[in-house]
Amino acid sequence: MESYKDVRRKHIRLHMEGALTARDKVGVQDFVLLDAYTSESAFVDNLRKRFNENLIYTYIGTLLVSVNPYQELGIYTVSQMELYQGVNFFELPPHVYAIADNAYRMMCSELNNHFILISGESGAGKTEASKKILQYFAVTCPMTQSLQIARDRLLLSNPVLEAFGNARTVRNDNSSRFGKYMDIQFDFQGIPVGGHIISYLIEKSRVVYQNQGERNFHIFYQLLAGGEEERLAFLGLERDPQLYKYLSQGHCAKESSINDKNDWKTVSNAFSVIDFTEADLENLFGIIASVLHLGNIGFEEDDQGCATIPDTHEIKWIAKLLGVHPADLLEALTHRKIEAKTEEVICPLTLELSVYARDAMAKAVYGRTFTWLVNKINSSLVNKDFTRKTVIGLLDIYGFEVFDKNGFEQFCINYCNEKLQQLLIERTLKAEQAEYEMEGIEWEPIKYFNNKIICDLVEERHKGIISILDEECIRPGPATDLSFLEKLEEKVGKHAHFETYILYLTRFCMGEDHCISIFFRFLEKNNDLLYRHLKEVLCKSKNVILRECFLRAELENRRRPPTVGTQFKNSLSSLLEILIAKEPSYIRCIKPNDRKEPSKFDDFLIRHQIKYLGLMEHLRVRRAGFAYRRKYEHFLQRYKSLCPDTWPHWHGPPAEGVERLINYIGYKPEEYKLGKTKIFIRFPRTLFATEDALEFC
Ligand code: ADP
Ligand code: MG
Repeated sequence: MESYKDVRRKHIRLHMEGALTARDKVGVQDFVLLDAYTSESAFVDNLRKRFNENLIYTYIGTLLVSVNPYQELGIYTVSQMELYQGVNFFELPPHVYAIADNAYRMMCSELNNHFILISGESGAGKTEASKKILQYFAVTCPMTQSLQIARDRLLLSNPVLEAFGNARTVRNDNSSRFGKYMDIQFDFQGIPVGGHIISYLIEKSRVVYQNQGERNFHIFYQLLAGGEEERLAFLGLERDPQLYKYLSQGHCAKESSINDKNDWKTVSNAFSVIDFTEADLENLFGIIASVLHLGNIGFEEDDQGCATIPDTHEIKWIAKLLGVHPADLLEALTHRKIEAKTEEVICPLTLELSVYARDAMAKAVYGRTFTWLVNKINSSLVNKDFTRKTVIGLLDIYGFEVFDKNGFEQFCINYCNEKLQQLLIERTLKAEQAEYEMEGIEWEPIKYFNNKIICDLVEERHKGIISILDEECIRPGPATDLSFLEKLEEKVGKHAHFETYILYLTRFCMGEDHCISIFFRFLEKNNDLLYRHLKEVLCKSKNVILRECFLRAELENRRRPPTVGTQFKNSLSSLLEILIAKEPSYIRCIKPNDRKEPSKFDDFLIRHQIKYLGLMEHLRVRRAGFAYRRKYEHFLQRYKSLCPDTWPHWHGPPAEGVERLINYIGYKPEEYKLGKTKIFIRFPRTLFATEDALEFC
C-alpha cells in the first residue's frame, strides 16, 4: 500500500514535472490554471487530456468537476479514503473524498453546517458521487458501538429509496427518478448520529407508462424476482413481469445488467435494519401489488359508450390488498360523482376516462406511498439524544435536461437548475468578494450573467409562467394546452428570455399542429387530478399506510390543493432556505458519452453540458481576479528551497518569508498581491514558472 508520503511525493513530482512537460499530457488539475481560461475549447481539451489518463476529477477552485468513467478505477478503496483524511485540499489530486473531507473538517472546526450540491445530467454520476461521500463518512468518521446502528441506517436508506425511486432509463440503468436532499447529522465529536431526507418530484408517470427501452421502478421487478413464494401467493402475483401491463411497455422487463433477485435481498435486509415491521411490509407490498393488479384491469365499452369491467378478478385482489370494498372500487373506477346544486349525481365514465381514472389512482397511490416511505425512513433516522448537531447536506438533483421532446417535467427540472445556478453564482461572487475584503485586497467588480431574470419569468407571482399555468388550470371553460400557450404568448411572449427558455425546450417537436404537441399535457400534469370518487374509496382503506396517505381532511377541505407547479415552486423555495444557511461545496458531474461506455469522450455532448452546468461562467468569476491563492505557510513550505533566506528553515513570520522569496525569484508587481494571510497570484504562468524553478533546484 502506498503511504500518504509516497503519494504526496509522487504528486508533487508530477506537479513539478507537470510544470511544462506532463502538463501538456495530463492537463492542469485546476481549471483556474488554464491560461486561456475563457476558451471553451481549452476547457474541453483539458478535460479530455485528463479523462484519457483516467483522471476523472478536476477542480475549478474548490468546485469539483467529475466525468463519469463508466468503469471501476480502483480509486475508492479504504486506503484512498485514509489518504484524503485531514489533508489539505490541494496537496492531493482532486477527488470526491477531498470535497467530503474538506466539508467535514470545516464543519468540525467551525461548528457550522454545510451542503454539497451534486448536479449534472442523468447518468453523469451524481448518485454514485453522493454514495461515495456517504461511504467516506461511514468509514472515516469516529464511531461508537451504540451509534453503529445510526450509521447503518443512513447507509441502508439508499438501497430502499433507490428500489422505489430509481428505474432503468435509456440514459442510466439506475436512474434516480426523484430529487433527493439528505442531511447527515453529526454530534460535537463528529460522529454521524442521524439524518433526514427530503424528496422532490417523484416521476409518477413512470408507474403507468414507460418509453421503449425503459422500465418501471425497480421495486416491482425485485418483488417478482426475489419475493418469497408465500408472499407472492398472498399478493396474488406471478413471477413473470411480462404478465403485467405496467411493467412491460418498455419491452425490457428482463434486463441482463440488472440482478433483481440479488437486489431484493439487499432491500429486504435494509428494511429490517431500518426498522420496518412485518406488518409494515405486508401493507407496503400490498400497495405495490395492487398497482400491478390495477394495470391489468381490462375495461370494455358498453352500448352506450360507458366503461365496464367484465372480469372482476383484479378488482377483487386490489380490494383485498387495500382493504376497500370491491363494489365501491369498481364503481369509482367507472363512474364520476358530479356535484349538482343540491345533490350528487353519479355519471358513468367513458372508456378513455376510466383508463385515465385508473392510471391516476395508480400514480397517486404510488406517489404518496413513496412520500410515506421517506417519512418512515426519516423516523428511523431521528436521533433525539443529540441536541447539538451540525449537518452536512447532500443534494443529488437532476440537472438541466433538453431532450428531443420536452414536457412539464423538463420545465420543472430546468427551473430548479436555474435557481440553483443563481445560488451558486451569488455565493461564489460573495465568497470571492468576502475573501478579498478579509485579505485587504481591493475588489474588482466582475461582470456576470444574473439569471434572476429567468427565475422571475418562471416564478413571479401573478406574472410568471407558473402563475399563468395555474390560472389556466382553474379557469372555468375549456382550457387546453393551446389556450395556455396563447396566454403565455400574450403575457410573457415579449420577455427577452421567453423564446430561449420555453421554446428551446420544444423546438424539436414543432410540426403543423406544433402548439398542441409542444405543451402536450402541461395542464393535465400540473393539475394531477384524482377523481374525488376514488379518493373517497381510498380514504376508507383498511391498509394502514394508505390511510395515512389519504386523509379524510383532504375530502372535507373544499379548496383546491395547490397545483404540481406551485407545490414544486414552494418546495424549491424551502430548499433554497435550507441551503442559504449553510456553507456550500459543489460537484458538477459530466457524462462523457450517451452509450454508457468507458473511454469514449464525446466532445459535442460534453460542450453541451459545460454550457448548461454554467462551468465557463463559474471559471470566469473565479478567475476574474487571481488565478491562484495560497496561505503564506503553505506557499512557503512548498517553495522555500528556491531562496537561500528561507531554506531550509524560515523562523520569521510566514508573510515576510514569502515576500523575501518572491523578491528573490523576481515576481513583478502586477503579477501578485499580498493579503493578510495569503498570497494572490494573478496569472498561472507565474505559478508554473515557480514550479519549473523548483525542478532545477
Ligand atoms: P446519475 O445519478 O447522475 O443519473 P449515476 O450516479 O446513477 O448517475 O451513474 C450512472 C452509472 O454510471 C452508474 O450506475 C455507474 O455504472 C456509472 N458511474 C457513475 N459514477 C461512477 C464512478 N465514479 N466510477 C465508476 N462508475 C461510475
Ligand atoms: Mg441519480
